[in-house]
Amino acid sequence: MPHTALPPPSSTPPPSWYWSLPYAAVALFIAAMAALLWLIHREDAEEQRATLITDVLWMEQNFSFQFERNNALLVQLGPELLAGTTGTITEARLKRALDPESGIIRVLWLDPDGKVKGAEPPFTNHEMVGETTGTFPSAAAFRLARSLGRPVYSEAYAVLENQTQFEVHQPVFEGGQHLGTVVGVYSLNALLSRQVPWWFSERYRVSVTNNLGVEIAAKSKVSPLATLAYEIPFEPPGHGLNLVITAYKSEVRWIPLLLMGSLGVLAAAIVWSLWQLRRHMQRRQAAEQALSSEHAFRKAMEDSLKTGMRARDLNGRITYVNPAFCRMVGWSADELVGMQPPMPYWAPEAIEHTSGVHQQILGGKAPAQGLEVRLMRKNGERFDALLIEAPLIDDQGRHIGWMGSVVDVTEQKRAQELARQQQERLQATARLVTMGEMASTLAHELNQPLAAISSYNTGCLNMLEHGSIAPDELTGVLQKIGKQAQRAAQIIRRVHAFVRRSEPKFETVDLNGVIREAVGLVEPDAARRSVGIDVDLADGLPPVLADPVMIEQVAINLIRNGMDAMADTPRRERRLKLATRAEDGMLLFCVADRGRGIPPEVAEKLFAPFFTTKEEGMGMGLNICRSIAELHRGRLSFEPNPDGGTIFRFTLPVSHP
Ligand code: ADP
Repeated sequence: MPHTALPPPSSTPPPSWYWSLPYAAVALFIAAMAALLWLIHREDAEEQRATLITDVLWMEQNFSFQFERNNALLVQLGPELLAGTTGTITEARLKRALDPESGIIRVLWLDPDGKVKGAEPPFTNHEMVGETTGTFPSAAAFRLARSLGRPVYSEAYAVLENQTQFEVHQPVFEGGQHLGTVVGVYSLNALLSRQVPWWFSERYRVSVTNNLGVEIAAKSKVSPLATLAYEIPFEPPGHGLNLVITAYKSEVRWIPLLLMGSLGVLAAAIVWSLWQLRRHMQRRQAAEQALSSEHAFRKAMEDSLKTGMRARDLNGRITYVNPAFCRMVGWSADELVGMQPPMPYWAPEAIEHTSGVHQQILGGKAPAQGLEVRLMRKNGERFDALLIEAPLIDDQGRHIGWMGSVVDVTEQKRAQELARQQQERLQATARLVTMGEMASTLAHELNQPLAAISSYNTGCLNMLEHGSIAPDELTGVLQKIGKQAQRAAQIIRRVHAFVRRSEPKFETVDLNGVIREAVGLVEPDAARRSVGIDVDLADGLPPVLADPVMIEQVAINLIRNGMDAMADTPRRERRLKLATRAEDGMLLFCVADRGRGIPPEVAEKLFAPFFTTKEEGMGMGLNICRSIAELHRGRLSFEPNPDGGTIFRFTLPVSHP
């Protein structure tokens, strides 16, 4: 899973109208469906209206037929009733005319003057008094029928119990002479209830209004709810009567209603889910934005990092490198990611060591302070790198590889090496300076054996010339000469060993031996200054791993500083105590003088380079001693001497083979 090229997440937000589109589509869809339903509804209404009209026309025709049938019956009945020749046929006809189906409730026959000659059914007394109406039977209709010679309908008039009646006057002529008139009395209510069939009255309410628009008869008492109504003149009988037919509220049409309802629910669900989707998208967009800035920030961080970073999986395969690492080695990320060891940037001459380091890292045994390896750039240039490796743990806590930081330490190492060399040169110079300072004393010291050799030699020659020397005596003198020569050679060897310029060479060293050498070198000087040196070296000290010349240098420096400090001390008190001891896993070398001690203002700067209080001092002695102590992982410190003066303590770690 290479991590080199994460594509930046798209961050262009959609335009603002983008989200209105689905809402607009839903609105459009609902509008279209509503329009469709409205059209269906309108078509329905049209159809209902057409049906209504057809039914009304049928109804009207029905009435017309009935009136015509009734009139035909009255025409037949007229002569028979007026002549008074009523037989069974007439009775049968009367019965038919008064059949409830016909709507006629009474048949009257009038003489030519309009007087009632007879009635079927006959009038009751109460009706005869004419309490019901003053116009019964209608005189106007009688006259008009007589003059026109054809049936005429009277106006409708109210009678008791909310009943409305009208009459049809059928004049009877014979040979051009008016014999009288037959009147059929219709009950409007009976007519409606009998002539309107059940199926018709289930669908419509049939009523009759007068010329004032007031309802005077109706088939049903229930008022219809719907407004779909049709009104035609009720002809005959006419006289401003209108037949009003109103449709009852049609059945609730469930399908469109259900359709509309489910459409509404569906639209609401769509809008809701769109809204949810939009919220989700907004959250997602915000997260993407955050991710994008995080990514940009990380990228910027990664690019500006000076330390090379490199991730490897558990098999050592490279899974990620940062730009600094690529710059360091000269290979691109594309080339490096996926590579398995040996890597192209491992220097061939150090491949064994590098491969060992690699195994150490994969084994999880890399030291926390890091490892140094020699690597190679693509152009062949070598460089030293410090690797610090740590386990790579993923977000689920699994160990998936190793993350390493790589720092080019070539320059640092070069600088360190330079500093080390300078320090070494400085130390050598300091030794030369010390030796220069001790030169006259040493020359004097060397002079003594040489003078002794010379005088032994002269004495020997004289004795030989005089032949007064026995071979035994001669042997003794020559042995003395040899001893003195050895003494001189030892002084020269010590000087040579001390000033010899060499690379630091660590070896197992006997501390006491080194101290004795140092004492051997400074003894003549001490004698010149009348300083007594007390040496107290502990027996059986373990060896230390050290450069003996450097340790000797420290010892000589400390001894000479101690002697310098005692310049003003009375002669009998000028004693320098040297001691060695083993202490807490360290070897300790102490130099205790009885000098003037170290005041605090001097103590602060004691180890600073070129700090001196002496006229001819260089001020590098203690500084060099401290560097040597640190190089040997030891310490150099001082404390006041309880007997007066100062004690310098130099410690070295015991070497463990
Ligand atoms: P130098 O001996 O050339 O002055 P050092 O670095 O050896 O340089 O010593 C620095 C200074 O420390 C000395 O000049 C002296 O003042 C002080 N000093 C060193 N050792 C002692 C000592 N044993 N007692 C008192 N002062 C000391």
